[in-house]
Amino acid sequence: AKKIAVLTSGGDAPGMNAAVRAVVRTAISFGMEVYGVRHGYNGLLTGEVQKMELRSVSNIIQHGGTALFTARSPEFNTPEGVQKAAAKCRELGIDGVVVVGGDGSFRGARDLTGAGVPCIGVPGTIDNDISSSEYTIGYDTAMNTAMEMIDRIRDTTESHDRCSVVEVMGRRCGDIALNTGIAVGAIATLVPEVKYDFEKDIIERIRYAQKTGKRHFIVVVAEGVGHSEDICKRIQEETGIESRATILGHVQRGGSPTLRDRVVASQMGYHAVELLRDGKSNRVVVMQGERIVDFDITEALEMPRVFDEKLYKISQDLSR
Ligand code: ADP
Repeated sequence: AKKIAVLTSGGDAPGMNAAVRAVVRTAISFGMEVYGVRHGYNGLLTGEVQKMELRSVSNIIQHGGTALFTARSPEFNTPEGVQKAAAKCRELGIDGVVVVGGDGSFRGARDLTGAGVPCIGVPGTIDNDISSSEYTIGYDTAMNTAMEMIDRIRDTTESHDRCSVVEVMGRRCGDIALNTGIAVGAIATLVPEVKYDFEKDIIERIRYAQKTGKRHFIVVVAEGVGHSEDICKRIQEETGIESRATILGHVQRGGSPTLRDRVVASQMGYHAVELLRDGKSNRVVVMQGERIVDFDITEALEMPRVFDEKLYKISQDLSR
């Protein structure tokens, strides 16, 4: 490819800017022209496309969100929309697109490749819910934010001998909950991948810890389990411990990306442009065993998600 474009799509994530910066500067290093598309696939439909230079991506690596903006585009999600986007690319002479986003965005990238525009996906989502990759850009920042917020909740929970039920993000993926649960010393961590028994997995744990002298408790609930208000109410009813529910929500999506997110985003953005330079298309850049590699998008979308059972066991055995 000689003239490529980059866009961010779906839910934003800290580190997306570092990925865009890497794509722009790598492309320029390789002697390609590079364009930035605003508002995800929508920008391809409306022509919000701008030529990027080295300085176009100045001062963004440390910022959360996405300087290219993002969108969910119902129009692109139709065969006519995909054809229209492909026509726009041809009109501009764009012969490669890097899409930073989640599974939905990769389905779009697969369709756009099918319409004749070679696409490469880069996983950007805080949820770590992309089965082909062990890591997604934004995940580390989101977990660290959740951990810091729960540490603060813990201070006040401890002062009042309370129980706090904290719901963290992750959609149907329990990775954020599992890791933050371990990091904050939660008495119980509920994830969508493991069915839980209210008495055995929450109440009995709290009662046992109470007997050994523990007086304050944190329960971490994954978004995919939900019902944190109800869980909180039931804990108070059954144990008599004053309980409070907090849904952390979008604070987890923002903020300055951690070192890990900036570095992985830089590596993945670089790899994506290498693939386009080498004439590859319909690939997704992923992390496997700490290495940056790539898979066919269609195959990647069909891979089953692997839940870390050992880490879950560790969280169970340490929270007592
Ligand atoms: P994410 O990429 O974070 O999973 P979405 O699922 O909202 O976010 O997808 C982002 C955009 O990708 C959608 O607005 C749509 O334009 C496109 N997209 C989503 N699903 C598909 C699909 N099945 N086929 C084609 N395009 C899709």
